[in-house]
Amino acid sequence: MIKKILIANRGEIAVRIIRACREMGIRTVAIYSETDKDSLHTKLADEAICIGPAPSAKSYLNVKAILEAACLTGADSIHPGYGFLSENPSFARICEEMGIKFIGPSYKLIELLGNKSKAKETMKKAGVPVVQGSEGLIKSKSEALEIAAKIKYPVMLKASAGGGGKGIRIAYSEEELKKEYDIVKQEAKVSFNDDSLYLEKFIENPRHVEIQVLADEHGNCVHLGERDCSIQRRNQKMIEETPSGILDEKTRKMMGETAVKAVKEIGYTNAGTIEFLVDKNKDFYFMEMNTRVQVEHPITEMVTGIDIVKEQIRIANGEKLKFDQDDIKFFGHSMEVRINAEDPDKNFMPCPGLITGLHLPGGNGVRVDTAIYSGYMVPPTYDSMLAKIIVHGKDREESVAKMKSALAELVVDGIKTNVDFVLKILDDKDFHDDNYDTSYLNKFLS
Ligand code: ADP
Ligand code: ADP
Ligand code: MG
Repeated sequence: MIKKILIANRGEIAVRIIRACREMGIRTVAIYSETDKDSLHTKLADEAICIGPAPSAKSYLNVKAILEAACLTGADSIHPGYGFLSENPSFARICEEMGIKFIGPSYKLIELLGNKSKAKETMKKAGVPVVQGSEGLIKSKSEALEIAAKIKYPVMLKASAGGGGKGIRIAYSEEELKKEYDIVKQEAKVSFNDDSLYLEKFIENPRHVEIQVLADEHGNCVHLGERDCSIQRRNQKMIEETPSGILDEKTRKMMGETAVKAVKEIGYTNAGTIEFLVDKNKDFYFMEMNTRVQVEHPITEMVTGIDIVKEQIRIANGEKLKFDQDDIKFFGHSMEVRINAEDPDKNFMPCPGLITGLHLPGGNGVRVDTAIYSGYMVPPTYDSMLAKIIVHGKDREESVAKMKSALAELVVDGIKTNVDFVLKILDDKDFHDDNYDTSYLNKFLS
């Protein structure tokens, strides 16, 4: 029985998880770094333990300190959130060996799916369409050139251990590939301490459409529809919405069924997301699977009424899903905007600092997931995301109108944010007409 959860994270997702636990009558333990002493998650949890100095490597990635905190407080489970240790198989394994429930899939599946090249091979075997490319890792530059010549340019070089939009490069020609190969290899080594690469065809002007799944430990699995995350800067999402404007019912059904089939085939459990690219012909291709709760999970919660974090906890507790596919209904349209502490006029440079004044929007169909407050010092050490503004309307038009209204109300004084930049996108004709793909922001910025 899960009675006390240690949340191995910070910021809005830690707060999100604490709230779910409170509603479920589960006690919570926050961990915090020295700079996060006054953070909201530290204050909201039933107990809080300092686990080290500011740098992530010494605190939120410090496995030993986190496990000591769990033992000291008698936490029976750990929720890893997203980022940090959420997709670290050895952390999940140690938890398991210590008899602490890791709220997520088994470490073996995290390991398998965290290796993006291996994940692709696995999905291909499970009958999921994948982007054409190298079979497994590429061993040398000459092999990369050989494969690229076969599948034709442009191609994409990707770090197998990559995440967060890092370690991905396009090459339009042999010359570019030769150059990019060394750059990505270096980048992957530095960011992920793993320089293995794979190569795939660059799909031009696709939509990023992902399917949320939930699978219990008794073989039951459902999908909760899709999220369109095509508004990206440098392969990182900025605005997400559901349903996706480009899916017809047939494609939507096929993608959902493909995702569920794959999950069952590999024996995946807990919440997960299968990311696909959808091309102009509505053909879809597997890209990667994220074995954790995602940043943009709230939009799915808004249209389905299902609390994904509570489901993660129930599944980890060994419970059966209380619904099957036919029970899941979709209402209206939902959209999320990520508000970051960054300066769009200075190439989106992070802008940490003191929040001197704050007004958050609210009202019918408006949800704000955040950990900031007036007087909060945004540290330079972590992710620059300040808040997620989420709206729910009867259709896309109403969602966009609600989002514009909510963002117009939002006031964050003292630091620079991307709010005005996002408002410009919301006013853009192509965005308004749902006429965009993953290249949209680059074009918008140039
Ligand atoms: P989502 O897929 O949920 O939209 P993002 O790609 O925006 O998530 O990543 C969520 C957070 O996790 C970000 O802070 C990102 O920097 C971090 N992250 C994701 N994958 C990795 C990884 N492999 N290594 C380090 N950080 C990662
Ligand atoms: P991460 O692990 O960093 O999230 P992904 O493999 O999910 O990396 O890719 C991130 C983004 O990069 C995708 O959402 C998409 O916009 C772009 N991308 C990735 N692979 C391709 C591809 N083969 N063709 C076109 N765009 C791609
Ligand atoms: Mg991804």
